[in-house]
Order: sequence, then C-alpha cells, then structure tokens
Amino acid sequence: MKYYSTHKQAPLASLKEAVVKGLAGDKGLYMPEQIHPFTSSEIAALKNKSFHEIACSVAQAFFGEDIEPAVLDTIVRETLAFNTPVVQVHDNIYSLELFHGPTLAFKDVGARFMARLLGYFIEKEGKEEVNVLVATSGDTGSAVANGFLGVPGIKVYVLYPKGKVSPIQECQFTTLGQNITALEIDGTFDDCQALVKSAFMDTALNQHMKLTSANSINVARFLPQSFYYFYAYAQLDKAGKADELVVCVPSGNFGNITAGLFGYFMGLPIKHFIAANNRNDIFLEYLKTGEYHPRPSVATLANAMDVGDPSNFARILDLFSKFEHPYQEIKKLISGYRYTNEEIATTMQQVYSTYQYVLDPHGACGYQALADAKLSPEETGVFLETAHPAKFKGTVDQILNSDIEIPEKLQEFMKGTKQSIPLTKDFETFKSYLLKQ
Ligand SMILES: *Cc1c(COP(=O)(O)O)cnc(C)c1O
Repeated sequence: MKYYSTHKQAPLASLKEAVVKGLAGDKGLYMPEQIHPFTSSEIAALKNKSFHEIACSVAQAFFGEDIEPAVLDTIVRETLAFNTPVVQVHDNIYSLELFHGPTLAFKDVGARFMARLLGYFIEKEGKEEVNVLVATSGDTGSAVANGFLGVPGIKVYVLYPKGKVSPIQECQFTTLGQNITALEIDGTFDDCQALVKSAFMDTALNQHMKLTSANSINVARFLPQSFYYFYAYAQLDKAGKADELVVCVPSGNFGNITAGLFGYFMGLPIKHFIAANNRNDIFLEYLKTGEYHPRPSVATLANAMDVGDPSNFARILDLFSKFEHPYQEIKKLISGYRYTNEEIATTMQQVYSTYQYVLDPHGACGYQALADAKLSPEETGVFLETAHPAKFKGTVDQILNSDIEIPEKLQEFMKGTKQSIPLTKDFETFKSYLLKQ
C-alpha cells in the first residue's frame, strides 16, 4: 500500500518511508491510498472474536500488503498486552476504558504499535539507528517512552517543560533509562515543540543522525487506534446494543477520532460521532461556521486536549474530500460540544455521586457531550475514557473530595530514580547536545 500526502505535493511513500519520515516532504500528513472495507458478514462476526483477533483483522486491512501475517500478529500481540473493557455507566451510556495499558492512557496503543513496527523495519534492514524526538506536556512522552523502551536500534529523546509536568507523569519517562533519555527544558511546552521542529529542519543535525517523530501525525501511531472502535462495536453488538451507536471522543489533536472515522469508512456501523472539546473549541467553531481558524491554546483541566490547531484536521478534510459537499457531510456525521473547567468539574461530581464512577477530566467532556446529545432510547452512546483518573490525581481528588487509589503500575514508576538532562530552550545548546550523541 502506498501513502499520499494530504498536500498532494510529495511523492507517494511506502509504509516504511511514511513511518520513518512521519511528516511528508511537503509538510502534509500521510494517508493510506486505499481503505479496505469489511463485508457485512465480517462485521457481524466481530462479536465472537477476541480483541487480538479483531485487531489483527483491522491491522491486516491497513498493513497486510507490507507485513507478513505472522509478524503483524506478533506486533499486535505485543501492542495489546492489556485489555480494554466497555463499562456501563448509566442507562445507554457506556465508557470504553482505554487506560489499562502500561502508562494508563489510550496513547499506549499507538505508541507501542509504532515502536514495534519501526523496530521491525530497522531490524530487517540492519541499518542505521533511528532517533525519536518527542515533545510532551505529559501523556505523549510517557506513552512513547514506555512503548519504545528496549526496542533495539531506536533511541528516544523526550523533551518536557521543567516544573510543568505532574510528578506522576514525570516519573513515567524519567526513570526508565536504557534507550530513553529525558531532556528537562527550562521553558514551556511550546518551547519544547519548537526545539523538535527546528531539529527536523536542521541540515547538519539530519546529516549526523536519522530523526523521526512519534506524535499522532505518524500513520503507525494513529491508524492502530481504530482497533478499539471495532472492539467496542463488537462488545456492544454482543449485548444487543450496537444497532444505533453514537461514539463520543474527547479530542485534542483529533488523531483518535480520525482513527474512528477510518473505522466508519471501513464499514463499521457507527451512526454518529461526537467530538468533545474543552475550551479549545476550534473544531466546534468549524462545524458551526464552515471556517477553520487556528488559535493559541488555552490551559484547561483536560490538558491533553489543549490544542489550538489540531494536526489531524487535515486528515478529516481529506477523508471527506471525495464527497461533493464535504462540509455538509462532516456536519451530518460529526457534532461537537465544548466544556469549561467548571462544567468539567460539575460533571465529574455528578457522575461520581450518582453512579460512583470516577471520570478523569478528559472523559468527563466525553460523558457530558453524550448526556447533552439527548440520545433516543434506541441509541447507545459510548465515550472513550482516554486516561485513568489517577494520572490526574491532584485535580480529581480536589474536585471529588476523594483520595483515589494509585494503580500499582503507576506506583512502580514512582519508586524509580529520576534521571534527566537539564537544557535551556536555546536551539544551539540542544543541537550541540544531539551532535555529541
Ligand atoms: C492525547 C489525549 C487526548 C486527545 O487525543 P487526540 O488524538 O489528540 O485527539 C484526550 N485525552 C487524553 C487523556 C489524551 O492523552
């Protein structure tokens, strides 16, 4: 399968090129040339399959032309070394808990898949080492660092803003050692991101070492996220609740919901999508006006969704470009909601006191959007609970007046010794550091 750029100004790429490069040469995002649909009998049979089997069939549809089935099977097995339950919160609202992986957030799925796929390509060709640069405000760094830990031929540099990442998040990428290096930048998240961007554009650095990124612009990170949309459908179908399915996705860079849209175009019977936002509501504005105006992000309680210019918006436009009236079709299939910090807190309190279910601030946006969508009795709503509430323990405990338990996996990280290299936000310092590696 070939991959084209959303800007259509770069040559077609192989899977390997798309994964190693991340972004296309014309700065567009890579898209698979074909979407192989499932037949209706394949869809109907999903309910009798395990998560592993479902994920393998979906992976086969995307990567089957490029990777042998046995290798793909192993990559999928190592990606999904944890389960993903669908939990009923209340009447016809379900939570798809994507936080049972090693770092307790949904990004584990994409990060682990990408790490193993890249590792496979490097091993097969025995070529030069690849260096992954990743800027993080918390969740991405931990998922990527843990996903790539110990993968031969790959080194990971996590850049994070000093003092602006919660202690629980920080220990998930500073205590690992091996092929993971944490760079503590005296600056903001935007400074970290700017350093990574400058590195990708620096000729001397790119001659010295092979650099790639591991955020959701990478096809190997975002496409595997479609696995669990198929899985959620299968579980609800088994319960006789999937005839009119509404899927709600707490969204920031829109990689997660885009993976769901791929599922939809592969024939997954999803009636409607909802994109739930915090105050960074550029997409909602687009749905209302048809105009897309990126703006600087504002900080909120659901900080993994603090994105002012969602990178995967380009992919959504591209997916709908085959229609005569793309904007009308997008509006028909996807609706949007946005929530302030106060509203997020109120939802968390109400759901906790009424249903004894602890939402994290991101999942709270998802739950509330389904509640506000006023589903009919025939419809079933499922929201993606994207992170374990304990990842945001300080915020959650304050809002719920609780003392929620920290899962053992997180406690293990907290026992480790922090190791990081302090750097200023000056690019020349960062560059000379990398040149010495
Ligand atoms: C990354 C993240 C999101 C947003 O996902 P996108 O794919 O960027 O839209 C939502 N919730 C949590 C907890 C996250 O870490």
